[in-house]
Amino acid sequence: MNIDNTSDDDNDNGRPATPLDEDCCHNGCNPCIFDIHAKLLEEYEKKKKENVKVQISKNMLCQFSYKIFVITDIQEAADTYILLALRYQESDKKNDVCLLIEPGQHVMLHLQDATRPFTPLYYTDDSIQFLVRLYHNGKFSMYLEHAKIGDEIRIRGPYGNFKYKRNSFQNIIMFCMGSGITAMYPVIKSIIDNELEETRIHFVGCYRTVSQIPLKKELQIFSDYWNFKSVLYISQL
Ligand SMILES: Cc1cc2nc3c(=O)[nH]c(=O)nc-3n(C[C@H](O)[C@H](O)[C@H](O)COP(=O)(O)OP(=O)(O)OC[C@H]3O[C@@H](n4cnc5c(N)ncnc54)[C@H](O)[C@@H]3O)c2cc1C
Repeated sequence: MNIDNTSDDDNDNGRPATPLDEDCCHNGCNPCIFDIHAKLLEEYEKKKKENVKVQISKNMLCQFSYKIFVITDIQEAADTYILLALRYQESDKKNDVCLLIEPGQHVMLHLQDATRPFTPLYYTDDSIQFLVRLYHNGKFSMYLEHAKIGDEIRIRGPYGNFKYKRNSFQNIIMFCMGSGITAMYPVIKSIIDNELEETRIHFVGCYRTVSQIPLKKELQIFSDYWNFKSVLYISQL
């Protein structure tokens, strides 16, 4: 039996390496990098006692240490929304690792002294894209508003235990407001892209104005599929 919750940051024997002190931003993140490390260490010790072989993960990301990404593109996606594209830039990039994120899982982005959770919309082997709602007075929002192509952002993760299993429901009704669409989008895409899926999705999105609807074009394309239907509600004209 193999365990697959370790990463290339593990020691040779598979023991999760201790995060550096400066990896903690002291802002009370949930999950905190040290809590994650303590949990994985506990699992590791338990499996060691049971004599279970530890398999090194092929995931470029790690839950208890940050990886450096560089901003490659920033585009306006709607009023107060941007699409943020990042690429993995570390010099120690190995050929046998790539990004592995389940649809709906999130990661922690760290910029200057702030850490916030974000849910990737898309990812490739070494690049990742986020839809970000920018808040007036929001700390991370302000940092991103002033960020430029080439700036570094550190990422750890992925987190979240939601696991979608093919055809486990006949119908799924999704309700979301604002940036909540980021948690739904990858799940919708994984369902409509899978020809073996028989699940129908009914998406209900709520927004303040038409100009604040992100991913409008994408939702329109999804609506061409037999199993996707969306209704959008606007609270202001
Ligand atoms: C699991 C998870 C996944 C997420 N995924 C995404 C995602 O994919 N995309 C996305 O856009 N967001 C996502 N979020 C939300 C995101 O993590 C941040 O919470 C959000 O971007 C706000 O961060 P901020 O630092 O800009 O705002 P904060 O500084 O944390 O402020 C939060 C709010 O308080 C207000 N505020 C701050 N300071 C003041 C002040 N002095 N006076 C009055 N009001 C103030 C801000 O305007 C803002 O509305 C996710 C959250 C979770 C929990």
